[in-house]
Amino acid sequence: MDWNGALEHSFEEAKPSLGKGAVADYIPALAGADPKAFAMAVIGVDGAEASIGDDTTAFSIQSISKVFTLTMALSARREKLWKRVGREASGSPFNSIVQLEHERGVPRNPFINAGAIVVTDTVVSDHSGNAPANEILGVVRQASGNDAVRINNEIATSEETWGDRNRSLAYFAKSFGNLENPADVVLKTYFRQCAIEMTVRDLARAGLFLTSGGKDPLTGKCFLTRAQSNRVNALMMANGHYDMSGDFAFRVGLPGKSGVGGGILAIAPGSCAVAVWSPGLNSAGNSLGGTVAMEAFTDCTGLNVFSDKTPRASDYRE
Ligand code: GLU
Repeated sequence: MDWNGALEHSFEEAKPSLGKGAVADYIPALAGADPKAFAMAVIGVDGAEASIGDDTTAFSIQSISKVFTLTMALSARREKLWKRVGREASGSPFNSIVQLEHERGVPRNPFINAGAIVVTDTVVSDHSGNAPANEILGVVRQASGNDAVRINNEIATSEETWGDRNRSLAYFAKSFGNLENPADVVLKTYFRQCAIEMTVRDLARAGLFLTSGGKDPLTGKCFLTRAQSNRVNALMMANGHYDMSGDFAFRVGLPGKSGVGGGILAIAPGSCAVAVWSPGLNSAGNSLGGTVAMEAFTDCTGLNVFSDKTPRASDYRE
């Protein structure tokens, strides 16, 4: 089977779910998305690519941006980062404030909102004097190899207008001394990073360094050390899908990160990066059709980190 065959199979399997989920409606700018839209892309460590569906439509990556800010923070702060954010599953909604109080302002992991805000705070500190959101965008552009990746200003403004829960989390963390910068400065950056938009092809390409020990296998650019890259993948596996991270690991068997824009990025270490987009979400905020497609993809390719027979990228091409 080649990548195209795997994507065609995944799309077919996802079709009955398309249009069934609910699109994110916490901001008006996302509520208008077409719940039937679908796109999927894969890129192998050797650069071979394939895509299917609406693969030229840019969508809001939302929480998937947390993978890139974590990459920046981990590479700059190294082990010190773990004094400010944990590594455990939260078992609570991604924007819960109760747990943050209980754990005295140290969020459970970098992918719940409070954790991501703390991570973004380190990026703001490390790029003071520059526009930190542009620094994040710069890293995403570099990883994706596409300078046309941009921040959607309408969505960023909408996030800011409807961002009271995130504001609460940031001020709460600040009150425990876990923000180095003013909360409103960190939030502005956080809202903008969530509003980065790109196509599934860009997203798969942007995740490729996580397949190869933190180093882009095509350009040689080093984003993380091998140990750091392993850790980002571990966190994606444990915490990348909100309260259904266990379900994603169970069904798909790859580290992944979802966003409420309907995107999912999954990493098959040593083999390929896969991205899917379908805006209809399940009850936990993960793409309904996208998860089905990812499950079909790993099922038919055998790419599953828990399998003793994980094939290589070259096994999938004619
Ligand atoms: N901008 C969203 C928020 O912070 C991101 C949600 C998500 O994709 O998980 O609420």
